[in-house]
Amino acid sequence: MTSVDVLVVGAGPAGASLSFALARSGIEAHVIDRAHFPRPKPCAEYLSPEASRILSDMGALERVEQTGAAALAGVHVRAPNGAMIRGDFVAAHGFAGFRDRGLSVRREILDAILLDRARSAGARVTEGARVTDLLRAHDGRVIGVRTLCGGETSEHRARLVIGADGLRSVVARRAGLAHTFRWPRRLALVTHYAGVRDIGVHGEMHVERDGYVGIADVGNGLTTVALVVPASRSREIAGDRAAFLERWLAQRAHLAPRFASATRESPVVATGPFASHARRGWAPGLALVGDAADFFDPFTGEGIYSALRGGELLAGAVRVALDAARPRHADAALAAYDAERRAEFGGKWLVERIIGAVIGTAPLINRAARNLSRRKDLADLLIGVTGDFVPAREVIRLGYLWKVFGRSRPLAGSRAPLA
Ligand SMILES: Cc1cc2nc3c(=O)[nH]c(=O)nc-3n(C[C@H](O)[C@H](O)[C@H](O)COP(=O)(O)OP(=O)(O)OC[C@H]3O[C@@H](n4cnc5c(N)ncnc54)[C@H](O)[C@@H]3O)c2cc1C
Repeated sequence: MTSVDVLVVGAGPAGASLSFALARSGIEAHVIDRAHFPRPKPCAEYLSPEASRILSDMGALERVEQTGAAALAGVHVRAPNGAMIRGDFVAAHGFAGFRDRGLSVRREILDAILLDRARSAGARVTEGARVTDLLRAHDGRVIGVRTLCGGETSEHRARLVIGADGLRSVVARRAGLAHTFRWPRRLALVTHYAGVRDIGVHGEMHVERDGYVGIADVGNGLTTVALVVPASRSREIAGDRAAFLERWLAQRAHLAPRFASATRESPVVATGPFASHARRGWAPGLALVGDAADFFDPFTGEGIYSALRGGELLAGAVRVALDAARPRHADAALAAYDAERRAEFGGKWLVERIIGAVIGTAPLINRAARNLSRRKDLADLLIGVTGDFVPAREVIRLGYLWKVFGRSRPLAGSRAPLA
């Protein structure tokens, strides 16, 4: 049985960011992932300028850019009535400083680069090993994990175990921390196309009455397409995912011509339902980070940023916990991390839930889009909040909500399909 300071389950952005930060400060970190990298991950694959900041700190940004990743100027949201919300990253924070652009890049590329950075900083990486259970001391404290690799079971001990194993985290479930919301219940179908017409420098979200689709240039001639629909359609999807997705796109008059001569370049992957939130981000001997701790809905994106930032925050707490003289002092450091995470992301979680409700209610999203299409400053503010570089309090104000949801006259021609 091996033993290390910190065992990180999951080598996605959360696990890689944490392991990188720990290894860089001389802490022994062992990352275990069931996959072999590079591996795909169903995702709309956009990152805000804030995520670029962390990539830069990890020494990953240049490498990502060199792979031909696409720059992203902001996001356009089309409501079911055809009204458009056009938000720009630069305008929202008003300076062209450190990084004024977002990025979109295939996860296969991004995640492999991030893991490589963690490995180069000194983290030990084991791929192809699935964590199946937690090991506990007689008092219930988590002291390691059990893995299954090539049919063989092994045990790995650690002073701290971190669950960075994404949605439906085994670590969160085995620790009794996982909590799944009953609403919203949505599924996603994700793939890449080549040859989609009129793809620009903005990510696109097209909201319809029966779901929404995110579309973005991910560089090298490829476009990510991530369709999200209510879980009640799972039976239709199960029959033939690709046919379901293609039918859905073909039925939208404003999208069909853009896909008419496009070719699908990767299998259609299904994932969901989402909407889970750990009751607590820690337990004695253990902490959660990234999607394992919280993921609501893909609409607002930014899960990659939250995972990377969560890794940064947790690294500080892990250092304190490892230096603690007594177990209860180590636990206090993990509890402080959980409080810090809630303080940093709490406002954003509220905005995500409001947006989650609005996009599921056509009259509300139609009205919001009509109002925001006339007020670019308000649209930029919202994109800034979802992009994590404007504080959530800027939009959780009665004045802002009134301007977005208050009654307004319909825009002339707003029902016409967009070209
Ligand atoms: C449809 C969709 C679209 C999205 N679009 C965006 C977007 O445009 N922008 C954005 O920022 N975010 C987006 N997200 C969210 C984003 O994908 C996640 O928030 C992000 O991947 C979280 O990173 P993570 O490291 O926590 O988890 P993950 O990236 O899921 O990594 C978890 C890792 O753990 C490993 N693992 C799982 N179980 C085990 C186990 N038992 N043993 C060992 N290893 C295990 C997995 O193999 C994986 O490598 C989207 C999500 C979905 C579903």
